[in-house]
Amino acid sequence: MKMLALALWMTGTANAAAAPAADDPLTRPMAVERAKEWLAPQPPERIFGKTWLVGFGGLSVALIDTVDGLVLIDGALPQAAPAILANVRAAGFDPGDIKYILSTEPHYDHAGGFAALARDTGATVVASARGAEGLRAGALAKDDPQLAYGGTWPAVTTRVRVVKDGDVLKLGDTEITAHATPGHTMGSMSWSWNACEGKICRQIVFASSLNPVSADGYRYTSAAGKPFVSGFAKSYKLMDALKCDVLISAHPDNAGEGRVNDKPGACRAYAERSRGLLAKRLAAEKAGTAK
Ligand SMILES: [Zn+2]
Repeated sequence: MKMLALALWMTGTANAAAAPAADDPLTRPMAVERAKEWLAPQPPERIFGKTWLVGFGGLSVALIDTVDGLVLIDGALPQAAPAILANVRAAGFDPGDIKYILSTEPHYDHAGGFAALARDTGATVVASARGAEGLRAGALAKDDPQLAYGGTWPAVTTRVRVVKDGDVLKLGDTEITAHATPGHTMGSMSWSWNACEGKICRQIVFASSLNPVSADGYRYTSAAGKPFVSGFAKSYKLMDALKCDVLISAHPDNAGEGRVNDKPGACRAYAERSRGLLAKRLAAEKAGTAK
């Protein structure tokens, strides 16, 4: 009995995740239209080296084993947190070893699970300045093109570390570079790192959403929309130039086929898709046919 008590104490944070309260406000299901499709269950899958996918059919969550702790990227919806941690365990890791949780954007479909994940693992959440604002508020920014859709999610009340474009996060044998990729939100960040198998290394890019989607009535051609259009342009330029052997996109269906895209030019194609959508959208606004 004493041994058991000690074991529970030692892994207290992980156990808290295994036995959530009956109604846990941080994992309370958000009733969103596409939740079932987004959270289609997937087993953990090793992508290359020590990089894994531990997310879902319609929302990507990555796990990097750095030897000196784990890094998670994105956290899907609030109700997804227990399944993410179950996948981390199924891949053979201890969720208590997650040191950082990196954020691609302050929207509920990628950051909804952060509050529960950070609480249950003790990890520090990492985001851009604008991203961190949204995560601490658990709400859309006032300038978000989707603001009129509304919707809030559990705010991150634990430690959030702010990083800038080009900052490098070092943990164990891994260096992860932050790339500002504004447009979909002004705080969007993409992340890149080298995954190695012996002497062969491949650069993996976890790209934030580059979808020019907005609530009805929003205009990218308005004064408020201008920073977003120039943000997209900056992001396309980055994606065109970035070394990108394997692309993981926040919404896997935006990256081509399957869970990752490891074809040459995957990031360029990702940017090109968004470029086309934005051009179409701007043309519709100019023609007065945009919703
Ligand atoms: Zn979004």
